[in-house]
Amino acid sequence: MDKATFKKNQPVVYRTLSRALKQARIAHAYMFAGPKSAETKETALLFVQSLFCPHPDEDGFACMTCPSCRRYAARESIDVEWVELDRIKKKDILALQQKFSVTAMEKGGKRVYVLDGFDKATPDASNALLKFLEEPGDNLFGILLVENPGNTLTTIQSRCQLIQFRPGAARYVKEGLLAITSEENAKMLASAGYSLEDAKTWLEQEAFETIHEGAREFLENIHSVVAVYHMQKEVFPAKGPNTTKEWVRLWLLWLLYYIKRADIAPLDFEQKIGVTAILIETLDVLNRPVDLALCLDKVYARVRKVVRK
Ligand SMILES: [Zn+2]
Repeated sequence: MDKATFKKNQPVVYRTLSRALKQARIAHAYMFAGPKSAETKETALLFVQSLFCPHPDEDGFACMTCPSCRRYAARESIDVEWVELDRIKKKDILALQQKFSVTAMEKGGKRVYVLDGFDKATPDASNALLKFLEEPGDNLFGILLVENPGNTLTTIQSRCQLIQFRPGAARYVKEGLLAITSEENAKMLASAGYSLEDAKTWLEQEAFETIHEGAREFLENIHSVVAVYHMQKEVFPAKGPNTTKEWVRLWLLWLLYYIKRADIAPLDFEQKIGVTAILIETLDVLNRPVDLALCLDKVYARVRKVVRK
């Protein structure tokens, strides 16, 4: 992460964390809330590094280059636990507590846990974490990364300091992408709210164009069953390499991007409204555990019903 970019894109987050670090007044738990992107995670790493770095900058942030910073970046420390799972369960929280109770005996330094995607954790996991938050150990700090704080227990929210990230500045993302890709790709990725880093990662992958073309062809052939065959055979075959939540999400975002264009989506006003509603609903479904093949089949069937009316 580039600290100058961070400061420019997220001035409020930057100032809040800087103040905490400089005054050494660290909350026992933070909730970093922002769109699903690398940004909250990279900020969590910078914050973790900053808690340990012996050479902080004038704003209290880590130097990012010393051996300590490099060790945390490589996740090579027992003081910090990263939990990065599709869905955090009770056993994961208990394992975390167990680990910290062991390391606590070994040394008295700071310890940190980062729970990525905690808004999708099971209710049991939330209750287990709540107990943890109610009795914060000395020098134990937590960072919860969430897309939607509203999906967590209010009792958890009230025990965390909320750090709200603003959506990626779309113009900045678009400008950053124009040098490496088409204007259309840059526009779509920026308007979909991806961070510059995430967008670049997408573009590097071959599947990106497959998904892009897949979305275009789907809309062009939307009145024919050919659209569905093409999707099932070429784009998202069952167990195919592209059949992942993230690529399906990108496909849906491309459809939303194109649906306003009459030359690509031959639909009347009502059909556009109907299909748009299905796409937005499906984006939300993808935030939960879901059978992708089934989810896609539902989308195809529901879209066909709308366009045949
Ligand atoms: Zn450092």
